[in-house]
Amino acid sequence: MAVKPSGPVRPGPMQVGNLEIDVVVVPERGSVRLTVERDARITAIVPAGMDSALLVHVVKRRSRWIYDKLEVRVEDAALRPVKQFVTGEGFLYLGRNYRLRIVDEVPVPVGLVRGRILLRRDCLDRAQEELIAWYRHRGGSWLPKRAESWAQRMQAPLENVAVRRLGYRWGSCNQNGGVNIHWATMQLPAHLVDYVLVHELAHLHRQDHSAEFWAAVARAMPDYQQRRARLDRLGAHLWLPEGAQQ
Ligand SMILES: [Zn+2]
Repeated sequence: MAVKPSGPVRPGPMQVGNLEIDVVVVPERGSVRLTVERDARITAIVPAGMDSALLVHVVKRRSRWIYDKLEVRVEDAALRPVKQFVTGEGFLYLGRNYRLRIVDEVPVPVGLVRGRILLRRDCLDRAQEELIAWYRHRGGSWLPKRAESWAQRMQAPLENVAVRRLGYRWGSCNQNGGVNIHWATMQLPAHLVDYVLVHELAHLHRQDHSAEFWAAVARAMPDYQQRRARLDRLGAHLWLPEGAQQ
């Protein structure tokens, strides 16, 4: 006879049928929230003291949805381009495709000069890292102004914006008014980067994805649904090399 889980849920891995669920307990949460990350990790954010058997029931009830999501994640992984660091390879920056050129004499490892991304030959063995550093640097100087003007419009208490590795999220924020944007987001057209910004800025007021949260997003960006759908499709095609996600 299988041992049925009972008692309050505990944080950490939990097996439900064939699914491994990562349980995160958040005391102030009122209901269960299930997410399927881009690396196919399944997370259940649950209120403190929730009964394990009830969580198992919720997961089972939503298993069709989870399996559908997992399938999409696998398809997404197949869509991701693999880049080669050779002259002629294309890299996106703010929605525009730039050809790479390997060069000998430039002052910085990576630079955008006259419509070409120049990569210095002696950096070839760490090209991926240098390109990511370039996206972070470039995004780090482009984003703050953009974010500040949205923050003003939305009256969001923005303190700073950083471009970093964010695992499988395009953006995140914290209680201190900090907004983080994934470096890979800088490949998107500006109006989609704006959606990621607006989404995170709205979280500075509300941490959840409640109706009030989406209403705030819609007030700032009436066409956010189209942008979000576009981000879902385009996001799957962005360059996000294995091992560079975390
Ligand atoms: Zn969100």
